[in-house]
Amino acid sequence: MIPMSKKLIAGNWKMNGTLADLLEVSAIAAAAEDAKADAVLCPPATLIDRAVSATRGTRLRIGAQDCHANTSGAHTGDISAEMLADLGAAYVILGHSERRVDHGETSRTVAAKALAARRAGLNAIICVGETEGERAGGTTLAVVEEQLRTSIPEGASAANTTVAYEPVWAIGSGRVPTNEEIAEVHAALRAALSSRFGSEATGIRLLYGGSVKPSNAGSIFSIAGVDGALVGGASLKASDFAAILSAASGT
Ligand code: PEP
Repeated sequence: MIPMSKKLIAGNWKMNGTLADLLEVSAIAAAAEDAKADAVLCPPATLIDRAVSATRGTRLRIGAQDCHANTSGAHTGDISAEMLADLGAAYVILGHSERRVDHGETSRTVAAKALAARRAGLNAIICVGETEGERAGGTTLAVVEEQLRTSIPEGASAANTTVAYEPVWAIGSGRVPTNEEIAEVHAALRAALSSRFGSEATGIRLLYGGSVKPSNAGSIFSIAGVDGALVGGASLKASDFAAILSAASGT
């Protein structure tokens, strides 16, 4: 297993947060200053501009939760990767299971968006993960490997790609796979990245996501092959995010 230099903790605020929550963004940025891990926060699109301003000069990077594949045009309600970069975003989450379910996004769509993110200079956090039925049916590795193959375009590198393994059944449920199950999937994803992208894959971080919280973060970060976490609910409160960051700093 290739050791990564630093873990990455990425917060996904989903459809939560208003202007009043910029105080929480600043508190997360303050926690990130002292952390040995890298930190990214992905607020809703409505807060990206303000969040970038509030965190300028800090170690906290701001990201988005989705982008369109095109640069501009007749796509009502959509936001391009270039628009996000224009605001100062550095990352974009793509292919989150909530978007795959709510918006019918396929891995093909995700790959097109990943190319757009790359074009705009954003790092794409590409999510893969099995459903509860797929895990019960014993197809977890086949499912995530296929998602990885079809969601990540050629030319992936650490500069443009991060991968998040997020079992769908673990998101927001309080349920987490065993450490052995996480290790098994991460090893398979790492092997798939290496065989496809060779040495370019070395620095691509492989995050775990799904009900990460302060009480289980230390254990999850001790698993071989886990380079950080994508955190939903527990990223909303700066105190929880800070505790997860500090758990990642100690591993
Ligand atoms: C997520 O939304 O990516 C996520 C992992 O959510 P939670 O941490 O709330 O399970």
